Amino acid sequence: MPRDYYDVLGVGRHADEAEIKKAFRRLARELHPDANPDDPDAEEKFKEAAAAYEVLSDAERRRLYDAYGHEGLRSGGMAPDFGDFGSVADIFSAFFGGGGFESAFGGGRAARTAAVQGADVGVAVEIDLVDAATGISAEVEYDVEALCETCHGNGAQPGTPIVTCPRCRGTGQLQAVTRTRLGQLMRTTVCDQCGGDGRVPEQPCTTCGGLGRRAERRRLRVDVPAGISDGQRIRLGGRGHAGQRGGPPGDLYVLVRVREDERFVRDGQDLHTMLDVSAPLAALGTTLDVPTLEGDVPVEIPAGTQPGQVIELRGRGMPPLQRGRTGDLHVHVNVVVPRRLTREQRDLMERLADSLTDGNVRGEEEGMLARLKRALAG
Ligand SMILES: [Zn+2]
Ligand SMILES: [Zn+2]
Repeated sequence: MPRDYYDVLGVGRHADEAEIKKAFRRLARELHPDANPDDPDAEEKFKEAAAAYEVLSDAERRRLYDAYGHEGLRSGGMAPDFGDFGSVADIFSAFFGGGGFESAFGGGRAARTAAVQGADVGVAVEIDLVDAATGISAEVEYDVEALCETCHGNGAQPGTPIVTCPRCRGTGQLQAVTRTRLGQLMRTTVCDQCGGDGRVPEQPCTTCGGLGRRAERRRLRVDVPAGISDGQRIRLGGRGHAGQRGGPPGDLYVLVRVREDERFVRDGQDLHTMLDVSAPLAALGTTLDVPTLEGDVPVEIPAGTQPGQVIELRGRGMPPLQRGRTGDLHVHVNVVVPRRLTREQRDLMERLADSLTDGNVRGEEEGMLARLKRALAG
C-alpha cells in the first residue's frame, strides 16, 4: 500500500498549492539520487515524492485522492505512472525543466554545473624484499578531500536553498575597472564569494562552513601482491578526492617501494647473492649456509669449486606477479684467499704449493685466456 501523499510531502491536508510546491522542491533536492549516492533507496524515495506531488498539485486528482484515496486514483485511471520515464533524470526534468538537479537548484551557468570527477591521490608505501616475495597487507595513511556528510557536498545547510551569488549575480566573475593613463582598464577576476560557481548557499552548512568538503586523514590497508617490483603502483578506484557537483571520487594510487635487501640483488624474478668460501674449503668441498628469502639453507659446495662459479638454487627467487614460474637464486661463489697466515699455516701452505702440479691447477674446460676474456666482457 503506498504511503499517504500528504505524509510523503510532509504537508497538512489543507496545504495550498504554494506550500505543496515548496515542500516538493525541498524534498526533491534532499532525496535526489545525485545528492544521495550512498542510499540505494534514493531513487524509490524520490519517485514516491514525485508521485505525491503529481497528484496533490493537480486539483482534479487531489479531489479524487481526498475522497477515495489511492484506490480512487487507480479506478479513475489517474494513478501517477512513471513507466514512460526512463530514469529519475527524466522525471526530474518533467517537473523542473532540463538541465538536471544542479541547474534546477543551483542556478548559475550550465557550463559550471558539469559534474567533475575528484582528483587522484598518490601515496607511497615501503616494504621489505621478503614481504614483496610473500605479499603483505600494508597500511597507508593519506589526506583526502572528502564530501561533507551533512550537506552532501553542496555547501548548504540541509533544507535551505542554494541561491544565485549576490556578489557576481551568478556570472562567477567580477569585473574591476582601473583608471590608467591610457584609459580605463577592465580586469576580470573569479568571484571571491562563490569561487566562480555563480551560486552560494543561502545558509552555509555548519559542518563544513559551506565548502561542501573537508580534509580527512584516512588509513587504509592495502593488499600488496606477492612478486611486486619496486616502483609498481596499485590503483584503488574511488579512494581519491571527492568529486564536485555529483562527480565520482578520484582514485588512490599506491606507489610500492621495495627496500633493498643487502643480501640480494634482484633481477626480475631471479635473485643473486654472494657467498664467501675460503680457498681450502673451495678445494676440498663443504656445506655452507646460504641466505634465502625463507631463511638460511645448507648448500653443498662441491670440491674444486672455482671463483665466480654460480650455484643455482631453483625456485628460491621471487614469485611471479601474475603467471609464470618462481625465479631462481644464483649463488655466486667468492673464493677468499687468506690474507694473513700464522707461521704454522704458512708452513702448511708452502708444503701444499710444493705438492701442486700443473694438472692440479689448470682450468679444465677452458683455457686461461678464454676465461680472462669472459671475465673482462663482464
Ligand atoms: Zn557541509
Ligand atoms: Zn559569485
